[in-house]
Amino acid sequence: MGLSTVERRVCEAIGERAEELVDLACGLIRFDTTARQPGDPPRQESQLQECLAARLRAVGAEIDLWEPDADALAGEPMVPPGIEFKGRPQMIARRRGRGGGPALVLNGHIDVVSGEPRSEWTSDPFEPAVRDGRVYGRGACDMKGGIAAMVFAAELLAQTGVELRGDLLVATNTDEESSGAGGTALVRRGLTADAGIVTEPTGFQTWVACRGSEYGVIRVPGRPGHAEVHQPDWRHGGAVNAIEKAVPVLAAIRSLNREWETRDQYTHPHLSRPALLATMARAGEWAVTYPASCELTIAVMFLPVQADAHGAGSEVRAEVERWITRKTADADEWLREHPPAIEWWPNPVMPMEISESEPIVATVTSASADVGHPGPIGGLDSWYDGATLTQLGGIPSIGYGPPGFDAEGVSVAHVIDEHVPVDGLIGCAQGIAVAAMRYCGLA
Ligand SMILES: [Zn+2]
Repeated sequence: MGLSTVERRVCEAIGERAEELVDLACGLIRFDTTARQPGDPPRQESQLQECLAARLRAVGAEIDLWEPDADALAGEPMVPPGIEFKGRPQMIARRRGRGGGPALVLNGHIDVVSGEPRSEWTSDPFEPAVRDGRVYGRGACDMKGGIAAMVFAAELLAQTGVELRGDLLVATNTDEESSGAGGTALVRRGLTADAGIVTEPTGFQTWVACRGSEYGVIRVPGRPGHAEVHQPDWRHGGAVNAIEKAVPVLAAIRSLNREWETRDQYTHPHLSRPALLATMARAGEWAVTYPASCELTIAVMFLPVQADAHGAGSEVRAEVERWITRKTADADEWLREHPPAIEWWPNPVMPMEISESEPIVATVTSASADVGHPGPIGGLDSWYDGATLTQLGGIPSIGYGPPGFDAEGVSVAHVIDEHVPVDGLIGCAQGIAVAAMRYCGLA
């Protein structure tokens, strides 16, 4: 298609002012917005949000910066019980269009995963460094780089005098890495638009789908008894080793994965098949005692086609429960009489999928190609806020952002020496600016 004159002008301005874009990304990394563990005090979330709000206000955006009312959000999807938002504001900036065009929201999460172990980093994770054409620091790609690119795109559209028909919104939230509560707070505030772009590090792919996940703990029962003395059969009162009884449970987990692999409807063009795995194990009370229980924490990643009528994982949970109960009962008499119990974690995350014929998909793929970064349509095996905007907010949202991979194509999100290439930031800002002009329309 090629760039129009005005699109070229905006892209050139972004290229010429790339140093400011890098400075913005570095400035965002410098704010410590490490994702919370339950009970953690706020860090520098409000400073970061105020910094973005001031910049966007300066280019004519109306700002809504607020600390959500935790009580009002209690019981909402992905909002953990007891969560507080004091010191953790969310932000929605709106630059009004001239009217007559669709509204587009650009979204990013400001929280980052822990920078520990800091001593293993080449340079401090919260003191960004630019070397070899890359910005290094915690959150460089996931996703302060993407936030910098989208904010810079919005600023340059305004500063180069581009007037859009539809509104252009920038929404930044906390609590993506820890729970998803920040995205829920945005949509419950009334965030709405005709489409969304979440600037996760997709490497210029356009994500149209992601998997949901459920976590739970399987408690495998045993029966305690002295480890060093003879134990009769359990039917005659003998001890039972819960660690050994976890073996049939693990076998059931493996066989359910194999079962899922045989189902044609679980083949997805952009997502891996559903998967169930044990991620933590805890057993035993005393070295000289048969363990009374073995607790296996499980992760279940599931596809949009497995979701229930509400888009959530109730049917997947029920299938996992049925399968494990049946398979372990078949395999082991103790477990038939003492079935393992599964307790699911609250606040799971839901999968999502939007049609590839949603206008935002072609708009973003063509814009990215026209700025020199063609990328395929894809999906994310994990979860991200795009699912919340789409499922809870009714805003069909895609993921599109700068590269987040090393030379071998391995994700550098959440790793030591996380980084994002400078030319990727520039390309992302240009792609977003062009996509916004085409989606919202030029006035
Ligand atoms: Zn992310």
